[in-house]
Amino acid sequence: MDSTKDLIIVGGGPAGYSAALYAARASLDVLVVEHGMAGGQIATSDIIDNYPGLGSCSGAELGQKMQEHAEHAGAQSTYGSVSSIDRKDDMFIVNTDMEQLEAPALIVATGATPRLGGFVGEDEFRGRGVSYCATCDGMFYRGKHVFIIGGGNSAVEEAMYLSNIAEHVELVVRRDVFRAPRGMVERLLTRDNITIRYQTSIIEVSGSTFINRIVLRDNATGETHAEMFDEGSVGIFVAVGHDPATQIVAPYVDLGSDGGVVTDESMATKTPGLFCAGDMRSKSLRQVITAAADGAIAAMSAYAYLEESGRI
Ligand SMILES: Cc1cc2nc3c(=O)[nH]c(=O)nc-3n(C[C@H](O)[C@H](O)[C@H](O)COP(=O)(O)OP(=O)(O)OC[C@H]3O[C@@H](n4cnc5c(N)ncnc54)[C@H](O)[C@@H]3O)c2cc1C
Repeated sequence: MDSTKDLIIVGGGPAGYSAALYAARASLDVLVVEHGMAGGQIATSDIIDNYPGLGSCSGAELGQKMQEHAEHAGAQSTYGSVSSIDRKDDMFIVNTDMEQLEAPALIVATGATPRLGGFVGEDEFRGRGVSYCATCDGMFYRGKHVFIIGGGNSAVEEAMYLSNIAEHVELVVRRDVFRAPRGMVERLLTRDNITIRYQTSIIEVSGSTFINRIVLRDNATGETHAEMFDEGSVGIFVAVGHDPATQIVAPYVDLGSDGGVVTDESMATKTPGLFCAGDMRSKSLRQVITAAADGAIAAMSAYAYLEESGRI
């Protein structure tokens, strides 16, 4: 495989493969570099229920289809973990653990990792009562009881969202105050089905197929107690933020207050020829559909950049 391309895309999630599809259809010689499974984060999700036109679909299947679609259009994929990016004579040098690649335009779509709640049983019950995204999984808790962990903007937003779906929402706030602005918290307090547990942490969950026992700690006294639920009737949404994967682009971009990369509407960064797309951007809604849209825009912006700079 030729190591020089028109466009290199780092990350094979929804943003990366949407970008690859649009770039390949525009006749660019495009390569996706991915160090995990095609589909990125959705590859770990049993059901994607909110991508228009698909109905319910397994995340792994959707990821695979996105890769196949882009490759059918002419994109190439390679396995590799990108460790750093250099600039040389207006080219981007992409260093992976396998090879060195180069291109005049680069789209980075490396995603973001939801921060963990840090309680016992969290990993075991992920997708079986533990969630990191109300927009993704809220519908599964219609008429049920949900706990939300967090005291910042995203926790308050998720509580408001879930209060329209769940029967009862309990917001578990580690400290005795919210980090979210007062106005947001005041709106939250107007909802009858939301209660707040200040100075409280969830420290353990257990159950069999789904969660049926939650252990809470009073952070003021250190006392703990367990609460029991019918299996499948309760969920925990961890809403303590995301860590955007920005390390490899850090020298070339500005970061927003959420740690994501700042781009303009064309997905351009402050470095000409470098575009960022998907969850790694500074943005409010991290979903498959927004990542895919970012990817499409980034690809067409990269195409325009290459054309205007006489590279294609
Ligand atoms: C459990 C779970 C369930 C979800 N459910 C839904 C849902 O139902 N509906 C919905 O719309 N959204 C859902 N989401 C959110 C959705 O998955 C993301 O918004 C979406 O995947 C973001 O796409 P992305 O391409 O920006 O990033 P990602 O999907 O995170 O893809 C980034 C890719 O980059 C690769 N990568 C990172 N760094 C490097 C590197 N240095 N070198 C090479 N490759 C690299 C990663 O391996 C990964 O494949 C869910 C998320 C999770 C975690």
